[in-house]
Amino acid sequence: MDSINLRARDEAFIREVEKESGQNISTCYQCGNCTAGCPCGPVYDLQVNQIMRAIQLGDKKTVLEAASPWLCVSCSTCSARCPNDIDVARVMDTVRHIGRREGKTKYVINAFWDSFLQTVRFCGRSYELGIMALFMLRTGRFYTDLDLAPRMLPKKKMPYLPHLIRGKAAVSRIFKRFNDMQQYDD
Ligand code: SF4
Ligand code: SF4
Repeated sequence: MDSINLRARDEAFIREVEKESGQNISTCYQCGNCTAGCPCGPVYDLQVNQIMRAIQLGDKKTVLEAASPWLCVSCSTCSARCPNDIDVARVMDTVRHIGRREGKTKYVINAFWDSFLQTVRFCGRSYELGIMALFMLRTGRFYTDLDLAPRMLPKKKMPYLPHLIRGKAAVSRIFKRFNDMQQYDD
């Protein structure tokens, strides 16, 4: 775990993660069970137990600069395997929330999330073609995965038009409430 900076102990960060996730990070004893079951381990730059350790050490910089929380697919295998009942997936989620608030997000992944959420906000559910278009506009990656389109479109994997749900207005209100809360917090 050479990349973790032992000198930068940020107590406020430890408290912030614990409060927001509702988890007692100090009970992690580094057994590695979470990492052993994580399907994303092969693409992580810091394994999930290393993220836990970095939080224990208050190494905010290492945690927020890691790509791993942004690659996590929220499968909750880590939470199910933890012998200390730590909801590790929730901790990963909390790290992403803090990262987003502080503008420390991995750009491309963030662009995908924003595009996804934008379509949910306006259609009430995800709209794949819209996500693709918004993602391309945000990132300038106009040709990424474009070769998949001729195979997916005839199979109706990506409908041309969005499917608007009946409760669309209610979904939109959730987003508005969230935005209002953020302004209030600021
Ligand atoms: S929730 Fe994330 S960190 Fe946990 S096992 Fe799944 S992919 Fe790995
Ligand atoms: S499984 Fe739980 S105790 Fe073990 S390293 Fe992961 S978080 Fe820590």
